[in-house]
Amino acid sequence: MKSFFGKYHKKTILPVICLVCIGCLSACGSRTVEYRSADTAMGTVLQVSLYVTADPQEDGKELTEEVRTQIIDLERQELSRRVPDSVIGRINGLAAQEQSGNEAARAEDGSIEMQIPQALYQELLLVQEVSKASNGALDITLGKVAKLWNLDTAAVQPQMFQLPAKAALQEALACSGFEKITLIDGKLQMMPGILLDLGAVGKGIACDRLLAWLETKEQISGAVIALGGSILTYGEKPDGKEWKVGIVDPSDTSSYLGTLSLEGRWCVATSGDYERYVEAEGIRYHHILDPETGYPAQSGLKSVTIFGHSGCLCDALSTACFVLGAEEGLKLAEQYGVYAVMAAEDGTLFLSKGAEAYFTAD
Ligand code: AMP
Ligand code: MG
Repeated sequence: MKSFFGKYHKKTILPVICLVCIGCLSACGSRTVEYRSADTAMGTVLQVSLYVTADPQEDGKELTEEVRTQIIDLERQELSRRVPDSVIGRINGLAAQEQSGNEAARAEDGSIEMQIPQALYQELLLVQEVSKASNGALDITLGKVAKLWNLDTAAVQPQMFQLPAKAALQEALACSGFEKITLIDGKLQMMPGILLDLGAVGKGIACDRLLAWLETKEQISGAVIALGGSILTYGEKPDGKEWKVGIVDPSDTSSYLGTLSLEGRWCVATSGDYERYVEAEGIRYHHILDPETGYPAQSGLKSVTIFGHSGCLCDALSTACFVLGAEEGLKLAEQYGVYAVMAAEDGTLFLSKGAEAYFTAD
């Protein structure tokens, strides 16, 4: 059976569907009840399926709502570059100012410094490590470049698309570079003029935070949560079967390349050229940017799925590997001990070592 997770098209998910389904399992003989909800969060579709084993009638629906609230809070309070009060919004605001505000100190070289929450600090350390290991293919300082492309908006309103001028892209690129950020003593330091964009890792970070939350909920025995291209599986299904996660065929998003069969706790992150894009004069401009050129990456890949046990790592690697291409991407994934399924433009499928144990092609 195909999971309903892992397959969506940005253009088909809006307008919002908001529903909660309740399914009583084992002919209602057992007390495990499946609660499902579908909604939006972080600008994408959120599908939640929770298996609740104690007092389900009371709190199953509330639990699915809590999942969404947590994602929305994470985005508003920490990750969003569009929310001026979020941690990232505040740092970006300070980096845009001539003078430092009260909460940031300026070093002699003019860089700003801000204390950031402990969990986010650890996650950003990992992100920066992947940036280094990928020779900058992953770069969260590309905010100004991403803003010029404006693909979040243009993907749903193509009439809003304007090809950025080369000079403007060069200028924006000059304000980027992962090495312009330093993480030290719980603080983030960066050069003024930089605009951070955590779009490449935000959903993976959300998966990690949700996994930590699920572990505190004794009444939840299993869960699958899909947030756009990032999916987590947790615990067990009442029927003892594996979780099934479909991988979208990037050449035909109404079908699948194949299915992952996973037991227990996993994170699956996909970066694809079909997720957010605009087509103009026969060229597809998608949302995964090559930090060397400022243009959408052209590595010969159409999608990269990474699965492993850290959402942040998988999400960081899915973007980095997409930019690097199959050969270097596979090496990088294997170096980190995660698994990869990559689809190339010519239809070739690349699997990292060991991935075949989990992946069944359609
Ligand atoms: P993902 O779908 O996880 O690959 O993330 C893509 C999003 O991350 C884009 O919508 C941009 O906001 C941002 N982004 C694009 N290219 C890069 C890159 N090379 N490194 C880091 N972030 C990027
Ligand atoms: Mg990513």
